[in-house]
Parts: sequence; structure tokens; C-alpha cells
Amino acid sequence: MVAVYRPETLAQALDWVAVGKHTLFSGGTDLMVQHAVRSGLTPNFEQDVVFLDAIEELKQITQTEQGLSIGAECSLADIEQDPLVPDILRQGVANIAAPALRNRATMAGNICNASPAADSLPALYLLDATVVLSSLRGQREMAIADFITGPGKTQLQDDEILSHIIVPKSDLPIVFYHKVGTRAANALTKLSVAGLAKVVDGQVVDWRAAFGAVGPKVVRSRELEQLIIGQPVSMLGEPLFVGNILEQYSKIIRPIDDQRSTALYRHRTSLNLLQRWLTQVSTA
Ligand SMILES: Cc1cc2nc3c(=O)[nH]c(=O)nc-3n(C[C@H](O)[C@H](O)[C@H](O)COP(=O)(O)OP(=O)(O)OC[C@H]3O[C@@H](n4cnc5c(N)ncnc54)[C@H](O)[C@@H]3O)c2cc1C
Repeated sequence: MVAVYRPETLAQALDWVAVGKHTLFSGGTDLMVQHAVRSGLTPNFEQDVVFLDAIEELKQITQTEQGLSIGAECSLADIEQDPLVPDILRQGVANIAAPALRNRATMAGNICNASPAADSLPALYLLDATVVLSSLRGQREMAIADFITGPGKTQLQDDEILSHIIVPKSDLPIVFYHKVGTRAANALTKLSVAGLAKVVDGQVVDWRAAFGAVGPKVVRSRELEQLIIGQPVSMLGEPLFVGNILEQYSKIIRPIDDQRSTALYRHRTSLNLLQRWLTQVSTA
């Protein structure tokens, strides 16, 4: 028999998780599926469960000196609707499942579930987002790309709770987001491509691209981005230049076959979308 806690403050929650192993429950939209036994039966949790959804202090989205602070218990709908949230992240979140689920699910859950296909992740990688991990020992902050170590794996310790997501300020007005799925709502992600860029006086001063569901983690290469940053925009329409960029990305996009799609389809479509993203910037 497991115990269930529903703390109303972060301090209480941290007390509960300080000793032993617990299942942290936010919206439960991943957990209820993972722990389902059979239709009509109560899900089976092996560890004590700490519900985080009553912690009001984790439901705020505020501008801080470091950037935008998004509380872990903000729902996806809260994030999607908040004008303070960068457009690319709002688009990523708005593409998760259907509205009813987005009212319940959180971005913290999407991050901690660490699926390679999680739809908030490409935008968070592009925005250089960090996660704040709180415990009775204090707080530590790390880049999202370091926090997620592989499919379903993160650096979260047993006594920690992801309390906030920090999105640094950015000025990247050209936005690209494309999720490929089988239907308009509740589509399982076959792959996704997100991009951010800035052009000043015909020159690319920043350019970023991230690919979801094409590897064990989101794929983003700062090294390859440097090949594009500093170029005149017209170069992004030059077939030879574009061909070289696609070839370089082709080497680091390594999808697998699974029930959602084939590796070949994911690889080709990611590169087609990358080409579309380059074309968009070339005409900016
Ligand atoms: C029908 C359906 C459709 C879906 N469609 C999509 C989709 O299109 N795109 C997509 O990306 N996902 C999709 N999902 C998956 C899921 O809804 C998302 O990953 C969601 O964001 C999870 O959030 P949650 O709050 O419900 O997480 P939960 O289920 O509560 O938790 C998920 C994981 O995160 C951990 N966790 C939760 N909160 C914290 C915290 N604060 N600190 C540390 N660990 C924490 C939990 O212990 C658990 O391991 C879908 C799920 C369903 C059931």
C-alpha cells in the first residue's frame, strides 16, 4: 500500500521527498498511462506519490532578471496563452495533444518524462532554457540539454523537484516550427523541426535549429549553426551552400524506426524542413 501526499507549499513537498523514493505527480497524463493496469482498474503505483498540483507558488509565470521564470505547475494551457512566453515555445506547447489535456498537463512533466518526441523540448533547447532543481539542500540550475541524459533519463535526484524553468531573454524574431504527425489534434509526433533567427541589414546575426524525435535526445548543433551565422541572407538561397548544410545535418540526424514512423521518412523529412527553414530566412 502506498502513501499519497498533496502538499500546498514547495517547502512541504521538499520535506516529503527528502528521504526515500517518491513518484512526483503533476498533471499525471504520462504517469496514468505508464502505471495503467487495465481499463476500469486503479493505476498501480509502487512508490509513495507526491501530488504537486496544489502548490500555488509553482503556478506563476514571471519576468525576472535572469529571464522568464515558469513555475513547474503551470499547465500547458497557461503557458500557451501567456503573451510573456516566446512565440516558439507557445507554438511547441500548443501542438501537444488536445485542449483538455493541455489544461491538466505541465511542461515540467513533459521535460521530466524526457521523451525524445516531447513537443516542448525543441523550443526549450533553442531558447537555451535552464531548469531549477530544488531540494532541502538548496537549488541547482542546469541547461535543459544537460538535464536530459537520454530517453526517459534525467539528472533529477530522489530528493529534488523541478520547481522552475528559466527562459533567458532573447531577440530572435524569425520563427519556424513544424510538427509532423498523422492528424491535426492528439497527433503523435513523428518528428519536429524548430528554428529561430535574426537578420540585420541583410546579414544573419543569429540562426538556430533543433530537431525532435530524430535521436535519443533533441538534436541541436551550435557548431553547425556557426556555418550560417555571419552569412549574407542571400547565401541561404544558394544551392551549393544549402547542399553543404543539409549534408552536415544529415550526419547528425540519426532517427530510428518505431511504431510512429520509419528512420528513412524521419531523416528525409527533417532535411526537407531544414531546407524550408533556410529558405524562409533567405527571404527575410
Ligand atoms: C492522449 C495523450 C496525448 C499526448 N500527446 C502529446 C503530444 O502531442 N506531445 C507531447 O510532447 N506529449 C504528449 N503526451 C504526453 C504528456 O501529456 C506530456 O508529456 C505532458 O506534458 C506531461 O505532463 P504531466 O504534468 O501530465 O506529467 P506527469 O504525468 O505528472 O509526469 C511525467 C513525469 O515527470 C515527472 N514529474 C512531473 N512533474 C515533476 C516535477 N515538478 N519535478 C520532477 N519531476 C516531475 C513525473 O514523476 C513523471 O516521471 C500525450 C499524452 C496523452 C495521454
